Amino acid sequence: MVQPIVMEASMPEVIVTAIPAFTDNYIWLLTTGAAECAVVDPGDAKPVERALHREGLELACILLTHHHADHVGGVSRLVAATGAQVFGPHDDRIAGQTRSLHEGERIELPSLGLEFEVIEVPGHTSTHIAYYGHDCLFCGDTLFSVGCGRLFEGTPEQMQASLDKLAALPADTQVFCAHEYTLSNCDFALQVEPANEALQRRASQVEAARAAGRSTVPSLLGEELSVNPFLRCREPDVVRAARRRNPEAQPGASTLAEIRAWKDSF
Ligand code: ZN
Ligand code: FE
Repeated sequence: MVQPIVMEASMPEVIVTAIPAFTDNYIWLLTTGAAECAVVDPGDAKPVERALHREGLELACILLTHHHADHVGGVSRLVAATGAQVFGPHDDRIAGQTRSLHEGERIELPSLGLEFEVIEVPGHTSTHIAYYGHDCLFCGDTLFSVGCGRLFEGTPEQMQASLDKLAALPADTQVFCAHEYTLSNCDFALQVEPANEALQRRASQVEAARAAGRSTVPSLLGEELSVNPFLRCREPDVVRAARRRNPEAQPGASTLAEIRAWKDSF
């Protein structure tokens, strides 16, 4: 007798599309080829509604990374129109969530079959979370391409620990951040590390992409590790740059504190 071949139920592949919003936000649209979809950080409902209509999609699920208005502003209108479930961090400042998430939880997106792991990444805000799965990272305003979010609620130590967690993900992870800030981030990063050749190459690619109206997101985590100063706060060149501002700066969080403060006034 020939044994029947049992096909392993394989996970659906995720297709990620950018829905531009406001001046420089990206709302990420997740589909699998079926009718149901999810969005990450819908700060505005209108561009999402237009995309759903254009693509003939039903919104099953909303993922939120943090409470800022440019990430959650469209939630109530989208939920009223679609009944979508809402996942996000445990935070009273976010209304209308179906489920609050914590570090290490795995979630399956309703109707999509996609699975993501929740990573708590405080720093930009105190309850910021990121979603990792299918070789994709949705990290809101924590990690940007060639930059990181401002420290509105967290300490440099918290942000350093959060960025360390993201840096430990596989190098082939695609980083889907929530803003197109890469061009100005490159200008700043070149001030920190003018001799970084990988950064020089990335900066000229980014310049060409923006001049042609193309997005610079997602980026590859492996490349971010060699060009993003906020992921390089233990590299001698970055520590040296921090010491030009504060001779006491040490590798890690205190270097991050100096580089972040420098960027805030750049
Ligand atoms: Zn934010
Ligand atoms: Fe934002």
